[in-house]
Amino acid sequence: MRRFTLIGSGLAGGLLAAYLGKRGYEVDLFERRPDPRAGNFVGGRSINLALSTRGIHALEQLGLADEVLKHAIPMRGRMIHDRSGSLHFAPYDRDPAMHINSIGRAALNTVTIEAAQRFPSVRVRFNHRCTDVDLESGAARVINDLTNETTEVDSDVTIGVDGAFSAVRRAMQRLDRFDFSQSYLAHGYKELTIPPAGDGGWQMERNALHIWPRRSFMMIALPNPDGSFTCTLFYPFDGPTGFAAMRSDDDIRRLFDDQFPDAVPLMPTLLDDFRGNPTGSLVTIRCAPWYHRDRVALVGDAAHAVVPFYGQGMNAAFEDCFVLDQCLAEHRGDPGRAFADYFARRKANTDALADLAVQNFIEMRDKTASRRFRARKRLDHALEALFPGIYLPLYRMVTFSRIPYAQAQRRARLQDRIVYSVLGMAVTAIVAAGAWAAFSTIR
Ligand code: FAD
Repeated sequence: MRRFTLIGSGLAGGLLAAYLGKRGYEVDLFERRPDPRAGNFVGGRSINLALSTRGIHALEQLGLADEVLKHAIPMRGRMIHDRSGSLHFAPYDRDPAMHINSIGRAALNTVTIEAAQRFPSVRVRFNHRCTDVDLESGAARVINDLTNETTEVDSDVTIGVDGAFSAVRRAMQRLDRFDFSQSYLAHGYKELTIPPAGDGGWQMERNALHIWPRRSFMMIALPNPDGSFTCTLFYPFDGPTGFAAMRSDDDIRRLFDDQFPDAVPLMPTLLDDFRGNPTGSLVTIRCAPWYHRDRVALVGDAAHAVVPFYGQGMNAAFEDCFVLDQCLAEHRGDPGRAFADYFARRKANTDALADLAVQNFIEMRDKTASRRFRARKRLDHALEALFPGIYLPLYRMVTFSRIPYAQAQRRARLQDRIVYSVLGMAVTAIVAAGAWAAFSTIR
């Protein structure tokens, strides 16, 4: 039997521990934070997230999807709020049943940790922080933050599921020929709240992802089961009106009264939230390879953090768990080959996702407000109806299918080229016909 040490029990750590537990492996999972079930869930990073097909599929393999979806709120499309307060609803798909799911990070974290702990071979320890990994032996150095005691944890394999600023990856960065890059957006994010209505219901449409697109920045809101919405303002850090320049309550009020006038009456704690909540940064991280021999591997954000604009970071991390589990099963007894295969299957796809996620920021903050965008979405849905199974809009492939991200990206490019060529030919034909008609009249 192989012994695995997992570092990090965020969204993917618990799920991966459950996958490994199901295969009968011995698993020790170390998380630097306290147990989220003791009511000490530390926020700061998206209180709620959009869960979609890839994530649901990975949960289904362990029979967890129904348990998770009990806590979720379906979002069937984007509700666009323009500056005058007018609303436009754009469904995500031609099929009204297609939706993404707003789910609380804490609820999801709890389900995955409890799923892992149902397997007697899985042990979870909170308040344990990994500081280093010996890449040759795979031993992890872990400090108990309550007692300050340091332990060298020996096992056959250590997997870093410890997020974008992974300690396990940091150890791998010392290796010769290890590729690493990180790039930050000029925008940061701040979470704000729209509380429930007086009767406990939702103050805006519940089954939608709300967007206030304002060209160079935007605010979004996702519904929570308690009737509240978690809003996230994506806004430049710098510049004359950026986060750094917003010092007084008047600065904050001015921005919101001017840009989000319909949201302001729904946000009684706006000033306190704005001042009290941290401003988060948005990073894309790429690295290669995601493993070292048969000793160490990376999963989730530790291997490939992406910006959140496609709502796919966690979904991709869950998909990693599914693929890694398959690879370990296919190469049973040879984790080195399993890791190499896992890396080969995932790397190009998460690279494609990283690009798609940055592009979708521009689409969400800038294009969703335009008539042209809405016309394009209608055209997408019409083409999908005309050519079922042949024409698939990019959003559908990324969000409502398990088509590998890189394949979805290539297929969408090809479809776009065909659509724009056909439209170009149609416009040329119309102009030529008009010119011919005019010429005939003059003659
Ligand atoms: P994490 O969830 O970050 O977990 C890492 C864990 O490791 C943490 O618990 C951390 O405490 C622990 N840890 C870190 N260092 C150590 C250490 N040295 N020792 C021990 N433990 C350690 N994704 C979606 O799919 N849909 C969305 O709608 C979505 N929205 C997002 C919105 C925002 C604003 C942001 C920032 C991200 C969003 N994401 C979304 C992305 C998603 O949050 C991440 O992709 C996901 O959390 C990755 O899971 P993970 O387990 O790899 O990392």
